[in-house]
Amino acid sequence: MSNEGRKSIGFVSLGCPKALVDSERILTQLKLDGYDIVPRYEDAELVVVNTCGFIDSAKQESLDAIGEAISENGKVIVTGCMGKGDDAAAIRELHPKVLSVTGPAAYEEVVGAVHQYVPHTPVHDPYVDLVPPQGVKLTPRHYAYLKISEGCNHRCKFCIIPAMRGDLVSRPIGDVMEEAERLVKAGVRELLVISQDTSAYGVDMKYRTGFWNGRPLKTRMQELCEALGEFGVWVRLHYVYPYPHVDNIIPLMAEGKILPYLDIPFQHGSPDVLKRMKRPAAAEKVLDRIHHWRGICPGLTLRSTFIVGFPGETERDFDILLDFLREAQLDRVGCFQYSPVKGAAANDLPDPVPEAIKQERWERFMAVQQEISAAKLQAKVGKTIEILIDAVDEEGAIGRSTGDAPEIDGKVYLDGITDLNPGDFVEAQVTGADEYDLWAG
Ligand code: SF4
Repeated sequence: MSNEGRKSIGFVSLGCPKALVDSERILTQLKLDGYDIVPRYEDAELVVVNTCGFIDSAKQESLDAIGEAISENGKVIVTGCMGKGDDAAAIRELHPKVLSVTGPAAYEEVVGAVHQYVPHTPVHDPYVDLVPPQGVKLTPRHYAYLKISEGCNHRCKFCIIPAMRGDLVSRPIGDVMEEAERLVKAGVRELLVISQDTSAYGVDMKYRTGFWNGRPLKTRMQELCEALGEFGVWVRLHYVYPYPHVDNIIPLMAEGKILPYLDIPFQHGSPDVLKRMKRPAAAEKVLDRIHHWRGICPGLTLRSTFIVGFPGETERDFDILLDFLREAQLDRVGCFQYSPVKGAAANDLPDPVPEAIKQERWERFMAVQQEISAAKLQAKVGKTIEILIDAVDEEGAIGRSTGDAPEIDGKVYLDGITDLNPGDFVEAQVTGADEYDLWAG
C-alpha cells in the first residue's frame, strides 16, 4: 500500500480491559485496511469513540468525550458499552450529529462505518503488505494478527518498506504479551505473529529485558515464542528469515508449544539473484538448514513466496531455482512475476527480463511446485489431524490444519458435520486431498 492518499482516523478508548480488546481489534483492522491512526483531533478525518457505560461517572466521561470529539473534529462514530439500549438513545439525543452508534464488540459495524464515512480503497501490494488481499475484511474473532514490530533494517532492492516505514522498531515484549493475553481471554484461538522480519525481533532494542506479569523476558524471537506457547492456543509465525538462531525455535514446534509452521519468503534459490536482490540471509545454506529443521520436526510446514524474472535472472539462475524447489519440497508456495515498484532501487538494475520470458518461467515454476504441493497433501490422507474450525453452514464445517494459515493456504472440508462452531478444535482423519485442500471426517 502506498502512503499516498492514506486516510487518518482518531481513536478515543475508554473503559475496561474488555473494551480495550475491542479497541485493539478495531485499530488493528483499520491499520490493516490502510488507515493511519493519529493522536490529534485536527489531523483526523473522523474520530471513533469507544465508550464505557459501567457506572454513571464512566457514562458521563463517555458523553463528555463524544462532545469533545464533535466540537473538535465534527465526524464521530460511537461504539462500546454505552452504544446499546437507553444509553444509545441518550447519546443520539444529546449529540444528534454522531454518525453511527453501535454496542460492544461490534467490530464489523465500526470498521464498516469508517469505510462508509471515510472511503478508502486499499490497493494490495504483495511486496509491501503483511496480510493477504483477502485479509482486508475483518478477521474472524477466533484468530488475530499480532504485530510485533514496524519497519525493517534490510534494504532488499525491490522493496520500498524501509523508505516508507523506516528501520526496524520492535514493540516492547511486555506490550506484545499483554495484547496477546487480552486476545486469548477474548476468545482468540490462533495468534498470527507478523512483522517485516520476525527473526529480527528485538535487534533494535539489543534484546532488552522487558516484563510481563512481573516476569522478566528478553525482547527476542525465542523468548517471545516460548511465552506465547504458554497460552495453549495456536501460534503461527510469519516472515521469518533462515538465520542460524531460527534453529532454536524448531524444538518448540516439535514439542507442540507453537505451530510447526514457518513462513519464509525465500524469493529465489539462486545465490546470484539473492545477492542482487540484497536479500537477508542470502549467504545462509538454506537447504541444509531446511533438512536440519525437518530432522528435528518432521511435521514442519514450510510456506514461501518467490519472484521470477528479477532483472538479470538468467536461464541458469532459473534452473537453480527449480532445483531448489525440487529439493526444498516446500509445502505452500506463492510466486510473483517481478514488476517494478515506484521508488525501488531495483528499477535501476540492468538486464530486465522480457515479459514473455517472465510468464513462461512463472508457468514452469508453478507446474513444478503444484506437483510437490499435491504430493505433500496426498501423503496426509489416512492421517488424523487437528483442525481449527473457521466456518459452519448447512453443508458442513470448514477449517484449517496446523499447516494452513488463514486466507493464504488451504482449507479442510468436513462435509456433513454441522454441530461445530467457529473457533472449535477437532481431530479428524484425512479422507481426500487435491493440490490445495484436504477433506476429513
Ligand atoms: S526484508 Fe526486504 S522485502 Fe522484507 S521488508 Fe525488509 S527490505 Fe522489504
